[in-house]
Amino acid sequence: MVENNKTTKMFSLENYGIKDTKTHYQLSSEELHKITVEKGQGVEVSSGALAVNTGEFTGRSPKDRFIVKDEVTKDEIWWGDVNIPFDPEKFDQLYDKVTEYLSGKDIYVRDAYACADEEYQLNIRVINEYPWSNMFAHNMFLRPTEEELKDFTPEWTVVNAPGFMADPEVDGTRQHNFAILNFSKKIALIGGTGYTGEIKKGIFSALNFILPVFKDTLSMHCSANVGDDGDTAIFFGLSGTGKTTLSADPERKLIGDDEHGWTKDNKVFNFEGGCYAKVINLSKENEPDIFNAIKPGAILENVIIDDKGDVDFEDVSITQNTRVSYPIYHINNIQQPSVGENPKNIFFLTADAFGVLPPISKLTPGQAAYHFISGYTAKVAGTEAGITEPVPSFSACFGAPFMPLHPTRYAEMLSKKMQDAGVNVWLVNTGWTGGPYGVGSRMKLKYTREMISSALEGKLDKVDYVTHPIFGLEMPKVCLNVPSEVLNPRETWKDKEAYDVKANELALFFKNNFKMFEDNASEEILKGGPIV
Ligand code: ATP
Ligand code: MN
Repeated sequence: MVENNKTTKMFSLENYGIKDTKTHYQLSSEELHKITVEKGQGVEVSSGALAVNTGEFTGRSPKDRFIVKDEVTKDEIWWGDVNIPFDPEKFDQLYDKVTEYLSGKDIYVRDAYACADEEYQLNIRVINEYPWSNMFAHNMFLRPTEEELKDFTPEWTVVNAPGFMADPEVDGTRQHNFAILNFSKKIALIGGTGYTGEIKKGIFSALNFILPVFKDTLSMHCSANVGDDGDTAIFFGLSGTGKTTLSADPERKLIGDDEHGWTKDNKVFNFEGGCYAKVINLSKENEPDIFNAIKPGAILENVIIDDKGDVDFEDVSITQNTRVSYPIYHINNIQQPSVGENPKNIFFLTADAFGVLPPISKLTPGQAAYHFISGYTAKVAGTEAGITEPVPSFSACFGAPFMPLHPTRYAEMLSKKMQDAGVNVWLVNTGWTGGPYGVGSRMKLKYTREMISSALEGKLDKVDYVTHPIFGLEMPKVCLNVPSEVLNPRETWKDKEAYDVKANELALFFKNNFKMFEDNASEEILKGGPIV
């Protein structure tokens, strides 16, 4: 009966319009690793992990992310630069071209699902041009058992053709690459880019529509873990702020590192079955859990490897966004299934390159809503040519690029859930201290971990606080194993006046950004912002 899967499902893909393929269904991670190496599309590194290059794209391409505008979506989606409308007929035309392109090739198919809480399970079929992209789907989505595969009915389909190049004039795209969501046909169509993150974030974006609209469940761009007492913590934050790093805590069971739902009956569940960690400057000493997860089954992306097959994690010559994907069971301490109870603590992570925000502060409900809607972090020099000063970046709900609905819809759900659950909300600055980028330095990971542990263990409930004069945030005066002067950012700056100037500058950025949300915000939320 096991053969059943491999034979009867060695189907033709004609239903999808993909003809005369050699279809490789549900191959194991080992098989896909082997084929990738044989085809010269990847190499094995000394730890046994696979390493690939994703090609032209080493990150997502938000400007090429579209949603088909039709009866299902037209009145629901927050259309704009993030959710760019795509014509339904153009979609059909492009779909036909992509499936024509895939015809006659070796194709890798995988059945998987999203959402660890079975009530919300979303079955997915992933159709890939490349074996390593299919292995990524194995790592990142949840893996059905042999038994579950017998009567598996896919609901959503991901069609992934990195080698297909669109013709913008004819196909209605911006350029040759695209990631298009079609909610009526339940298809994510991805072409012209081999960046694997498009696959996972495509399904994430779909869930960010499906769960709030149809299932009364809040979807969140956050990581989550749970302590021995069953106390769940979640960590919101934009890219690079520390979701993956800080959720991998040997003292707590990992629920997931990036995408979660918070249900109407007060559960937090992971959408995914794996992690996708940044590996820039990764060290065994600072991040042992992630480092040790890079073993057979893991896929490194866009890293530089020496003659001995060792990875140089410092080398950013391909990209700063070097990554590794691995199934969640590569982490030792995990929650199974990936579901937790109502969170007790919520952390908003921000990498403030202005060096203004305190490393940890406690938020009132109004401040929590204000900071969630603002979604602040900063971009630093090095990623884009010409950037020498840090640039503030505001992304509503700490994940605007993946949120198809208006931000206030998620914010209202979160506010209500936070108040019902009586959760503590903390703002954590994992960014700069002692001055802005270029003058100060990044907050020590060790300190951030200590501050989070103290918050989780209730130790910060027993200490005195001081209020930040501009941001109104409550900053603890002491924290175990952290020098007290670190806790108040102004104290860490040599030039106190320069701090005040920067703090005002940042406050103004917050104010200006928030203007577009003012009409929808209550008095309480508006009071949660800085005073300028
Ligand atoms: P993405 O959404 O892109 O997956 P993420 O929020 O998961 O991003 P991480 O992968 O955790 O971000 O990246 C945080 C990076 O910052 C890591 O490379 C980590 O080593 C580094 N870092 C340096 N100092 C700190 C700190 N104090 N706290 C957290 N991370 C830190
Ligand atoms: Mn992450």
